[in-house]
Amino acid sequence: MQPIESSYPTAPHCIVLTPPAMLSTGPMHVTCGNCRRTVLTSVTKENGACAYVATLFVCLICCPFFWLPLCMESCKDVHHSCPSCGARFGTYKKI
Ligand SMILES: [Zn+2]
Repeated sequence: MQPIESSYPTAPHCIVLTPPAMLSTGPMHVTCGNCRRTVLTSVTKENGACAYVATLFVCLICCPFFWLPLCMESCKDVHHSCPSCGARFGTYKKI
């Protein structure tokens, strides 16, 4: 008799999130659905739609300073991940 195998592929570091459903701009306490630990999320910031839209507006108003929104932390999207296993929880997007 052959063992029963799951038809679902196993994907390490898949996106698994246990509440909260609303992410914020800073690290948050969550229970990781992948490693089952309660962790403080690891956050990384990256330019997103908000930064690029702001860049366009600044370029129209004062072209030499178009790059300023790309350097501002407040314009960036925030990616949350588990510091223990690396699973991604999601992204807080400004717009
Ligand atoms: Zn984890």
